[in-house]
Amino acid sequence: LARIARFDGAVHAYLELTEDQAYRQADRVDAAIAEGSFDRLGPLAGVPIGFKDNMNLQGTHTTCASRMLESYVSPYTATCVERPLSGGAIPLGKLNMDEFAFGSSTETSAFGRTCNPWDLTRVPGGSSGGSAAAVSAGLATVTLGSDTGGSIRQPGSLCGCVAVKPSYGVVSRYGVVAFGSSLDQVGPFARSVRDAALTLNAIAGHDPRDVTSQNVSVDFTANLDEGVRGMRVGVVPAFMEAEGLDPRVRERVQQAIDALANQGAELVEVELPHAQAAMSAYYVLGPCEAFSNLARFDSVRYGYCAKDAGDLASRYELSRAAGFGAEARRRIMLGSYLLSAGVFERYYYAAQQVRTLITRDYQEAFEKVDCIAAPVCPRTAFTFGEVSDPLSMYLSDMFTISVNIAGNGGMSVPLPLTRDEGLPVGIQLISPQFRDENMFRVAAAVER
Ligand code: GLN
Repeated sequence: LARIARFDGAVHAYLELTEDQAYRQADRVDAAIAEGSFDRLGPLAGVPIGFKDNMNLQGTHTTCASRMLESYVSPYTATCVERPLSGGAIPLGKLNMDEFAFGSSTETSAFGRTCNPWDLTRVPGGSSGGSAAAVSAGLATVTLGSDTGGSIRQPGSLCGCVAVKPSYGVVSRYGVVAFGSSLDQVGPFARSVRDAALTLNAIAGHDPRDVTSQNVSVDFTANLDEGVRGMRVGVVPAFMEAEGLDPRVRERVQQAIDALANQGAELVEVELPHAQAAMSAYYVLGPCEAFSNLARFDSVRYGYCAKDAGDLASRYELSRAAGFGAEARRRIMLGSYLLSAGVFERYYYAAQQVRTLITRDYQEAFEKVDCIAAPVCPRTAFTFGEVSDPLSMYLSDMFTISVNIAGNGGMSVPLPLTRDEGLPVGIQLISPQFRDENMFRVAAAVER
Protein backbone atom coordinates (compact mmCIF):
# COMPACT_ATOMS: atom_id res chain seq x y z
CA LEU A 1 0.00 0.00 0.00
CA ALA A 2 2.89 2.33 0.71
CA ARG A 3 4.34 1.55 -2.70
CA ILE A 4 0.99 2.30 -4.34
CA ALA A 5 0.81 5.62 -2.46
CA ARG A 6 4.29 6.44 -3.71
CA PHE A 7 4.09 5.36 -7.36
CA ASP A 8 0.51 5.09 -8.45
CA GLY A 9 0.18 8.83 -8.87
CA ALA A 10 2.38 8.43 -11.95
CA VAL A 11 1.10 5.06 -13.19
CA HIS A 12 -2.60 5.37 -12.28
CA ALA A 13 -3.28 1.63 -12.29
CA TYR A 14 -5.87 1.80 -9.49
CA LEU A 15 -9.33 3.32 -9.55
CA GLU A 16 -10.12 2.45 -5.93
CA LEU A 17 -8.10 1.05 -3.05
CA THR A 18 -9.56 -1.43 -0.57
CA GLU A 19 -7.29 -0.66 2.37
CA ASP A 20 -9.72 -1.66 5.10
CA GLN A 21 -10.45 -5.00 3.48
CA ALA A 22 -6.73 -5.55 2.92
CA TYR A 23 -5.90 -5.03 6.60
CA ARG A 24 -8.80 -7.21 7.72
CA GLN A 25 -7.62 -10.04 5.46
CA ALA A 26 -4.04 -9.61 6.63
CA ASP A 27 -5.21 -9.93 10.25
CA ARG A 28 -7.05 -13.08 9.32
CA VAL A 29 -3.94 -14.57 7.71
CA ASP A 30 -1.81 -13.56 10.73
CA ALA A 31 -4.32 -15.26 13.01
CA ALA A 32 -4.18 -18.42 10.89
CA ILE A 33 -0.39 -18.43 11.15
CA ALA A 34 -0.57 -17.93 14.92
CA GLU A 35 -2.93 -20.84 15.41
CA GLY A 36 -1.13 -23.11 12.94
CA SER A 37 -3.91 -23.30 10.34
CA PHE A 38 -2.17 -21.35 7.55
CA ASP A 39 -1.90 -24.49 5.42
CA ARG A 40 -5.67 -24.69 5.27
CA LEU A 41 -5.84 -21.38 3.43
CA GLY A 42 -5.52 -21.24 -0.38
CA PRO A 43 -2.50 -20.95 -2.69
CA LEU A 44 -2.65 -17.14 -2.52
CA ALA A 45 -2.87 -16.81 1.27
CA GLY A 46 -1.22 -13.54 2.22
CA VAL A 47 -0.60 -12.55 -1.40
CA PRO A 48 -1.59 -8.98 -2.39
CA ILE A 49 -3.97 -9.09 -5.36
CA GLY A 50 -5.78 -6.49 -7.48
CA PHE A 51 -8.92 -6.86 -9.59
CA LYS A 52 -9.96 -5.33 -12.89
CA ASP A 53 -12.82 -2.92 -12.28
CA ASN A 54 -15.35 -5.06 -14.14
CA MET A 55 -15.24 -7.59 -11.27
CA ASN A 56 -17.67 -7.22 -8.41
CA LEU A 57 -16.31 -7.07 -4.88
CA GLN A 58 -19.06 -6.41 -2.39
CA GLY A 59 -18.97 -2.89 -0.98
CA THR A 60 -16.60 -1.48 -3.62
CA HIS A 61 -17.39 0.49 -6.72
CA THR A 62 -17.48 -1.55 -9.91
CA THR A 63 -17.34 1.14 -12.57
CA CYS A 64 -16.01 -0.65 -15.67
CA ALA A 65 -14.19 2.69 -16.03
CA SER A 66 -17.46 4.22 -17.23
CA ARG A 67 -19.46 7.27 -16.16
CA MET A 68 -22.43 4.98 -16.55
CA LEU A 69 -21.42 3.02 -13.43
CA GLU A 70 -19.54 5.76 -11.60
CA SER A 71 -21.65 5.46 -8.47
CA TYR A 72 -22.50 1.75 -8.65
CA VAL A 73 -21.56 -0.18 -5.50
CA SER A 74 -21.37 -3.97 -5.77
CA PRO A 75 -23.98 -5.77 -3.66
CA TYR A 76 -22.15 -9.11 -4.14
CA THR A 77 -18.79 -10.61 -5.02
CA ALA A 78 -17.72 -12.33 -8.26
CA THR A 79 -16.64 -15.96 -7.99
CA CYS A 80 -13.15 -15.18 -9.36
CA VAL A 81 -12.77 -12.58 -6.59
CA GLU A 82 -14.42 -14.58 -3.84
CA ARG A 83 -12.24 -17.67 -4.34
CA PRO A 84 -8.83 -16.09 -3.77
CA LEU A 85 -10.19 -13.94 -0.93
CA SER A 86 -11.71 -16.89 0.90
CA GLY A 87 -8.28 -18.51 0.53
CA GLY A 88 -6.58 -15.58 2.27
CA ALA A 89 -5.42 -13.35 -0.60
CA ILE A 90 -5.13 -9.66 0.33
CA PRO A 91 -7.31 -7.38 -1.85
CA LEU A 92 -5.52 -4.14 -2.75
CA GLY A 93 -8.17 -2.58 -4.96
CA LYS A 94 -9.83 -2.19 -8.32
CA LEU A 95 -7.86 -1.57 -11.50
CA ASN A 96 -8.30 0.75 -14.45
CA MET A 97 -9.40 -0.52 -17.85
CA ASP A 98 -10.85 0.56 -21.16
CA GLU A 99 -14.50 1.48 -20.70
CA PHE A 100 -16.49 -1.78 -20.50
CA ALA A 101 -13.31 -3.51 -21.82
CA PHE A 102 -13.65 -1.96 -25.30
CA GLY A 103 -10.14 -1.08 -26.37
CA SER A 104 -6.46 -1.98 -26.49
CA SER A 105 -4.80 0.93 -24.71
CA THR A 106 -6.79 1.86 -21.56
CA GLU A 107 -7.19 5.30 -23.15
CA THR A 108 -11.00 4.96 -23.22
CA SER A 109 -11.32 4.89 -19.40
CA ALA A 110 -13.64 7.66 -18.26
CA PHE A 111 -11.37 8.17 -15.23
CA GLY A 112 -8.06 8.93 -16.93
CA ARG A 113 -5.41 6.84 -18.57
CA THR A 114 -3.00 4.34 -17.06
CA CYS A 115 0.66 4.75 -18.04
CA ASN A 116 3.04 1.99 -19.02
CA PRO A 117 5.51 1.67 -16.12
CA TRP A 118 8.36 1.04 -18.58
CA ASP A 119 7.82 4.42 -20.25
CA LEU A 120 5.18 6.72 -18.84
CA THR A 121 4.58 8.35 -22.23
CA ARG A 122 3.30 5.03 -23.58
CA VAL A 123 0.11 3.03 -23.20
CA PRO A 124 0.03 -0.11 -21.04
CA GLY A 125 -2.17 -1.84 -23.61
CA GLY A 126 -5.70 -2.85 -22.83
CA SER A 127 -8.34 -3.34 -22.00
CA SER A 128 -6.84 -4.75 -18.76
CA GLY A 129 -4.16 -2.02 -18.73
CA GLY A 130 -4.43 -1.30 -15.01
CA SER A 131 -4.03 -4.99 -14.16
CA ALA A 132 -0.89 -5.28 -16.30
CA ALA A 133 0.65 -1.99 -15.14
CA ALA A 134 0.08 -2.82 -11.46
CA VAL A 135 2.02 -6.09 -11.68
CA SER A 136 4.68 -4.56 -13.89
CA ALA A 137 5.28 -1.66 -11.46
CA GLY A 138 5.22 -3.88 -8.38
CA LEU A 139 1.94 -2.37 -7.19
CA ALA A 140 0.41 -5.85 -6.71
CA THR A 141 1.93 -9.31 -6.63
CA VAL A 142 -0.74 -10.70 -8.93
CA THR A 143 -3.86 -9.24 -10.54
CA LEU A 144 -6.85 -10.46 -12.50
CA GLY A 145 -8.01 -9.21 -15.88
CA SER A 146 -10.51 -10.28 -18.51
CA ASP A 147 -9.90 -11.13 -22.14
CA THR A 148 -12.55 -11.06 -24.87
CA GLY A 149 -10.24 -10.60 -27.85
CA GLY A 150 -6.81 -10.07 -26.34
CA SER A 151 -7.31 -7.86 -23.30
CA ILE A 152 -5.14 -9.93 -20.97
CA ARG A 153 -2.42 -11.08 -23.36
CA GLN A 154 -1.85 -7.78 -25.22
CA PRO A 155 -1.31 -5.59 -22.11
CA GLY A 156 0.74 -8.46 -20.65
CA SER A 157 3.01 -8.26 -23.69
CA LEU A 158 3.26 -4.46 -23.59
CA CYS A 159 3.99 -4.33 -19.84
CA GLY A 160 6.26 -7.37 -19.60
CA CYS A 161 4.14 -9.65 -17.38
CA VAL A 162 3.05 -13.23 -17.65
CA ALA A 163 -0.60 -12.93 -18.68
CA VAL A 164 -3.01 -15.83 -19.10
CA LYS A 165 -6.34 -16.19 -20.87
CA PRO A 166 -7.43 -19.69 -19.93
CA SER A 167 -9.63 -21.83 -22.17
CA TYR A 168 -13.23 -20.61 -22.26
CA GLY A 169 -14.97 -22.19 -19.28
CA VAL A 170 -11.96 -22.64 -16.97
CA VAL A 171 -12.86 -19.62 -14.82
CA SER A 172 -16.38 -18.63 -13.80
CA ARG A 173 -17.69 -15.38 -15.26
CA TYR A 174 -20.25 -14.96 -12.47
CA GLY A 175 -20.04 -11.41 -11.17
CA VAL A 176 -17.84 -10.14 -13.98
CA VAL A 177 -19.62 -7.46 -16.01
CA ALA A 178 -20.29 -9.11 -19.37
CA PHE A 179 -18.93 -7.80 -22.68
CA GLY A 180 -19.11 -10.75 -25.11
CA SER A 181 -20.42 -13.61 -23.03
CA SER A 182 -19.31 -16.33 -25.46
CA LEU A 183 -15.77 -14.88 -25.61
CA ASP A 184 -15.01 -13.41 -22.15
CA GLN A 185 -12.56 -15.22 -19.89
CA VAL A 186 -10.92 -14.12 -16.64
CA GLY A 187 -7.24 -14.79 -16.05
CA PRO A 188 -4.16 -13.77 -14.08
CA PHE A 189 -1.24 -11.37 -14.50
CA ALA A 190 1.93 -12.25 -12.62
CA ARG A 191 5.68 -11.73 -12.62
CA SER A 192 6.46 -15.42 -13.20
CA VAL A 193 4.87 -18.40 -14.89
CA ARG A 194 4.62 -20.19 -11.56
CA ASP A 195 2.82 -17.27 -9.88
CA ALA A 196 0.38 -17.16 -12.80
CA ALA A 197 -0.26 -20.91 -12.52
CA LEU A 198 -0.84 -20.66 -8.76
CA THR A 199 -3.25 -17.78 -9.29
CA LEU A 200 -5.14 -19.72 -11.92
CA ASN A 201 -5.30 -22.66 -9.49
CA ALA A 202 -6.96 -20.31 -7.02
CA ILE A 203 -9.70 -19.10 -9.38
CA ALA A 204 -10.39 -22.03 -11.75
CA GLY A 205 -13.10 -24.65 -11.56
CA HIS A 206 -16.79 -25.24 -11.89
CA ASP A 207 -19.25 -22.72 -10.49
CA PRO A 208 -22.95 -23.56 -10.53
CA ARG A 209 -23.67 -19.84 -11.08
CA ASP A 210 -21.99 -19.84 -14.52
CA VAL A 211 -23.44 -22.57 -16.75
CA THR A 212 -20.46 -22.37 -19.11
CA SER A 213 -17.91 -23.01 -16.38
CA GLN A 214 -16.24 -26.41 -16.53
CA ASN A 215 -15.11 -28.87 -13.96
CA VAL A 216 -11.35 -28.51 -14.34
CA SER A 217 -9.35 -30.00 -11.53
CA VAL A 218 -5.90 -29.51 -13.04
CA ASP A 219 -2.92 -28.24 -11.05
CA PHE A 220 -1.48 -25.73 -13.51
CA THR A 221 1.92 -25.90 -11.79
CA ALA A 222 2.15 -29.68 -12.22
CA ASN A 223 4.45 -29.87 -15.24
CA LEU A 224 6.38 -26.60 -15.06
CA ASP A 225 9.68 -28.39 -14.44
CA GLU A 226 9.30 -31.04 -17.12
CA GLY A 227 10.91 -29.08 -19.94
CA VAL A 228 9.80 -29.20 -23.57
CA ARG A 229 11.80 -32.17 -24.80
CA GLY A 230 9.49 -34.24 -27.00
CA MET A 231 6.77 -31.59 -27.13
CA ARG A 232 5.49 -30.56 -30.55
CA VAL A 233 5.27 -26.78 -30.85
CA GLY A 234 3.31 -25.38 -33.78
CA VAL A 235 4.41 -22.33 -35.74
CA VAL A 236 1.91 -20.59 -38.05
CA PRO A 237 3.78 -19.12 -41.06
CA ALA A 238 0.91 -16.71 -41.81
CA PHE A 239 1.31 -15.22 -38.33
CA MET A 240 5.09 -14.92 -38.47
CA GLU A 241 4.96 -13.34 -41.94
CA ALA A 242 1.94 -11.15 -41.23
CA GLU A 243 1.93 -7.70 -42.73
CA GLY A 244 1.99 -5.19 -39.90
CA LEU A 245 4.15 -7.32 -37.59
CA ASP A 246 7.07 -5.14 -36.50
CA PRO A 247 10.27 -6.87 -37.71
CA ARG A 248 11.91 -6.39 -34.31
CA VAL A 249 8.99 -8.10 -32.60
CA ARG A 250 9.12 -10.88 -35.18
CA GLU A 251 12.82 -11.39 -34.52
CA ARG A 252 12.41 -11.65 -30.76
CA VAL A 253 9.52 -14.10 -31.10
CA GLN A 254 11.52 -16.15 -33.60
CA GLN A 255 14.50 -16.26 -31.24
CA ALA A 256 12.28 -17.59 -28.47
CA ILE A 257 10.89 -20.26 -30.79
CA ASP A 258 14.43 -21.26 -31.76
CA ALA A 259 15.34 -21.47 -28.10
CA LEU A 260 12.48 -23.92 -27.56
CA ALA A 261 13.87 -26.06 -30.37
CA ASN A 262 17.28 -25.95 -28.67
CA GLN A 263 15.65 -27.25 -25.51
CA GLY A 264 14.31 -30.26 -27.41
CA ALA A 265 10.90 -29.17 -28.68
CA GLU A 266 9.97 -30.31 -32.15
CA LEU A 267 8.83 -27.38 -34.31
CA VAL A 268 5.97 -28.17 -36.67
CA GLU A 269 4.44 -25.78 -39.22
CA VAL A 270 0.65 -25.60 -38.94
CA GLU A 271 -1.90 -23.67 -40.97
CA LEU A 272 -4.94 -21.86 -39.65
CA PRO A 273 -6.50 -21.10 -43.05
CA HIS A 274 -9.45 -19.12 -41.71
CA ALA A 275 -7.64 -17.19 -38.99
CA GLN A 276 -7.39 -14.11 -41.19
CA ALA A 277 -11.19 -13.83 -40.96
CA ALA A 278 -11.11 -13.85 -37.15
CA MET A 279 -10.95 -10.07 -36.84
CA SER A 280 -14.00 -9.61 -39.09
CA ALA A 281 -15.98 -12.29 -37.26
CA TYR A 282 -15.02 -10.79 -33.89
CA TYR A 283 -16.17 -7.29 -34.81
CA VAL A 284 -19.57 -8.76 -35.65
CA LEU A 285 -19.95 -11.18 -32.74
CA GLY A 286 -18.36 -8.91 -30.12
CA PRO A 287 -20.57 -5.84 -30.78
CA CYS A 288 -23.71 -8.01 -31.09
CA GLU A 289 -23.10 -9.56 -27.68
CA ALA A 290 -22.02 -6.23 -26.20
CA PHE A 291 -25.15 -4.53 -27.53
CA SER A 292 -27.29 -7.14 -25.77
CA ASN A 293 -25.28 -7.11 -22.56
CA LEU A 294 -25.19 -3.32 -22.29
CA ALA A 295 -28.95 -3.01 -22.75
CA ARG A 296 -29.32 -3.40 -18.96
CA PHE A 297 -27.67 -0.02 -18.37
CA ASP A 298 -30.90 1.85 -18.88
CA SER A 299 -30.58 4.37 -16.00
CA VAL A 300 -33.57 2.72 -14.32
CA ARG A 301 -32.16 -0.51 -12.93
CA TYR A 302 -28.56 0.55 -13.22
CA GLY A 303 -26.51 3.44 -14.20
CA TYR A 304 -26.16 7.10 -14.72
CA CYS A 305 -29.39 9.08 -15.00
CA ALA A 306 -29.50 12.35 -16.92
CA LYS A 307 -30.96 15.14 -14.80
CA ASP A 308 -33.35 16.83 -17.17
CA ALA A 309 -34.81 13.68 -18.71
CA GLY A 310 -38.53 14.05 -19.33
CA ASP A 311 -40.36 10.93 -20.49
CA LEU A 312 -38.95 7.42 -20.50
CA ALA A 313 -37.64 7.54 -24.07
CA SER A 314 -35.70 10.73 -23.50
CA ARG A 315 -34.45 9.39 -20.19
CA TYR A 316 -32.90 6.40 -22.03
CA GLU A 317 -31.59 8.58 -24.78
CA LEU A 318 -30.00 11.29 -22.67
CA SER A 319 -28.65 8.96 -19.99
CA ARG A 320 -27.07 6.51 -22.39
CA ALA A 321 -25.65 9.28 -24.57
CA ALA A 322 -23.98 10.92 -21.58
CA GLY A 323 -23.14 7.76 -19.62
CA PHE A 324 -21.32 5.86 -22.36
CA GLY A 325 -18.10 7.03 -23.99
CA ALA A 326 -17.48 7.14 -27.74
CA GLU A 327 -16.16 3.60 -28.17
CA ALA A 328 -19.00 2.07 -26.15
CA ARG A 329 -21.53 4.01 -28.22
CA ARG A 330 -19.82 2.85 -31.41
CA ARG A 331 -20.09 -0.81 -30.35
CA ILE A 332 -23.71 -0.43 -29.29
CA MET A 333 -24.69 1.18 -32.60
CA LEU A 334 -22.78 -1.45 -34.54
CA GLY A 335 -24.39 -4.30 -32.59
CA SER A 336 -27.88 -2.90 -32.92
CA TYR A 337 -27.43 -2.52 -36.67
CA LEU A 338 -25.92 -6.00 -37.12
CA LEU A 339 -28.78 -7.63 -35.22
CA SER A 340 -31.53 -5.80 -37.05
CA ALA A 341 -33.95 -7.58 -39.37
CA GLY A 342 -32.64 -8.16 -42.87
CA VAL A 343 -29.02 -7.60 -41.82
CA PHE A 344 -28.85 -10.26 -39.15
CA GLU A 345 -28.53 -13.29 -41.47
CA ARG A 346 -25.93 -11.66 -43.65
CA TYR A 347 -23.53 -10.73 -40.84
CA TYR A 348 -24.29 -12.53 -37.60
CA TYR A 349 -24.90 -15.93 -39.24
CA ALA A 350 -21.87 -15.53 -41.45
CA ALA A 351 -19.73 -14.67 -38.44
CA GLN A 352 -20.98 -17.76 -36.60
CA GLN A 353 -20.04 -19.89 -39.60
CA VAL A 354 -16.57 -18.34 -39.68
CA ARG A 355 -16.35 -19.13 -35.98
CA THR A 356 -16.97 -22.82 -36.70
CA LEU A 357 -14.31 -22.84 -39.41
CA ILE A 358 -11.71 -21.23 -37.14
CA THR A 359 -12.54 -23.64 -34.33
CA ARG A 360 -12.04 -26.56 -36.72
CA ASP A 361 -8.74 -25.10 -37.95
CA TYR A 362 -7.44 -25.13 -34.39
CA GLN A 363 -8.76 -28.64 -33.76
CA GLU A 364 -6.94 -29.90 -36.84
CA ALA A 365 -3.74 -28.07 -35.92
CA PHE A 366 -3.86 -29.55 -32.42
CA GLU A 367 -3.91 -33.05 -33.87
CA LYS A 368 -0.33 -32.30 -34.95
CA VAL A 369 0.98 -30.17 -32.08
CA ASP A 370 0.66 -29.79 -28.30
CA CYS A 371 0.92 -26.01 -28.27
CA ILE A 372 1.22 -23.17 -30.80
CA ALA A 373 3.78 -20.35 -30.50
CA ALA A 374 2.97 -16.96 -32.07
CA PRO A 375 3.38 -13.23 -31.58
CA VAL A 376 0.99 -11.59 -29.08
CA CYS A 377 0.77 -8.10 -30.47
CA PRO A 378 2.25 -6.76 -33.73
CA ARG A 379 4.30 -4.12 -31.90
CA THR A 380 5.59 -2.81 -28.60
CA ALA A 381 3.79 -0.16 -26.54
CA PHE A 382 2.74 2.92 -28.51
CA THR A 383 2.60 6.49 -27.23
CA PHE A 384 -0.66 8.09 -26.08
CA GLY A 385 -2.77 9.24 -28.99
CA GLU A 386 -0.46 7.59 -31.52
CA VAL A 387 -3.11 5.08 -32.61
CA SER A 388 -6.19 7.23 -33.00
CA ASP A 389 -8.49 5.60 -35.53
CA PRO A 390 -10.54 2.64 -34.30
CA LEU A 391 -9.55 0.28 -37.12
CA SER A 392 -5.81 0.61 -36.42
CA MET A 393 -6.51 0.09 -32.73
CA TYR A 394 -8.45 -3.10 -33.53
CA LEU A 395 -5.34 -4.50 -35.28
CA SER A 396 -3.58 -4.72 -31.90
CA ASP A 397 -5.44 -7.99 -31.43
CA MET A 398 -4.73 -9.57 -34.82
CA PHE A 399 -2.89 -12.51 -33.22
CA THR A 400 -5.05 -12.97 -30.14
CA ILE A 401 -8.66 -12.77 -31.35
CA SER A 402 -8.88 -16.17 -33.06
CA VAL A 403 -8.04 -17.81 -29.71
CA ASN A 404 -11.19 -16.36 -28.10
CA ILE A 405 -13.24 -17.28 -31.16
CA ALA A 406 -12.18 -20.92 -30.80
CA GLY A 407 -12.17 -20.99 -26.98
CA ASN A 408 -8.57 -22.16 -26.60
CA GLY A 409 -6.16 -21.17 -23.87
CA GLY A 410 -3.62 -18.46 -24.70
CA MET A 411 -0.94 -16.69 -22.71
CA SER A 412 1.77 -14.09 -23.10
CA VAL A 413 5.23 -14.71 -21.66
CA PRO A 414 7.76 -11.84 -21.56
CA LEU A 415 10.86 -12.14 -23.73
CA PRO A 416 14.30 -10.80 -22.84
CA LEU A 417 14.85 -7.12 -23.56
CA THR A 418 17.30 -6.17 -26.27
CA ARG A 419 19.78 -3.34 -25.97
CA ASP A 420 18.28 -1.04 -28.60
CA GLU A 421 14.63 -1.76 -27.82
CA GLY A 422 13.98 -1.03 -24.16
CA LEU A 423 10.33 -2.03 -24.25
CA PRO A 424 8.89 -5.40 -23.28
CA VAL A 425 7.27 -7.79 -25.70
CA GLY A 426 5.83 -11.24 -25.17
CA ILE A 427 5.44 -14.49 -27.04
CA GLN A 428 1.98 -16.02 -27.23
CA LEU A 429 1.50 -19.70 -26.41
CA ILE A 430 -1.81 -21.27 -27.41
CA SER A 431 -3.25 -24.49 -25.95
CA PRO A 432 -5.95 -26.83 -27.13
CA GLN A 433 -9.18 -26.18 -25.23
CA PHE A 434 -8.87 -27.49 -21.65
CA ARG A 435 -5.23 -28.47 -22.12
CA ASP A 436 -3.99 -25.22 -20.63
CA GLU A 437 -1.27 -27.13 -18.79
CA ASN A 438 0.45 -27.57 -22.19
CA MET A 439 1.05 -23.85 -22.63
CA PHE A 440 2.20 -23.50 -19.02
CA ARG A 441 4.80 -26.19 -19.61
CA VAL A 442 6.14 -24.39 -22.69
CA ALA A 443 5.91 -21.04 -20.89
CA ALA A 444 8.18 -22.32 -18.11
CA ALA A 445 10.72 -23.27 -20.80
CA VAL A 446 10.50 -19.80 -22.40
CA GLU A 447 11.12 -18.25 -18.99
CA ARG A 448 14.11 -20.52 -18.45
N1 GLN B 1 -9.29 -4.87 -28.05
C1 GLN B 1 -10.41 -5.74 -28.26
C2 GLN B 1 -11.67 -4.94 -28.26
O1 GLN B 1 -11.55 -3.77 -28.21
C3 GLN B 1 -10.45 -6.79 -27.20
C4 GLN B 1 -10.94 -6.28 -25.91
C5 GLN B 1 -11.03 -7.34 -24.86
O2 GLN B 1 -10.44 -8.42 -24.98
N2 GLN B 1 -11.80 -7.06 -23.83
O3 GLN B 1 -12.74 -5.43 -28.31
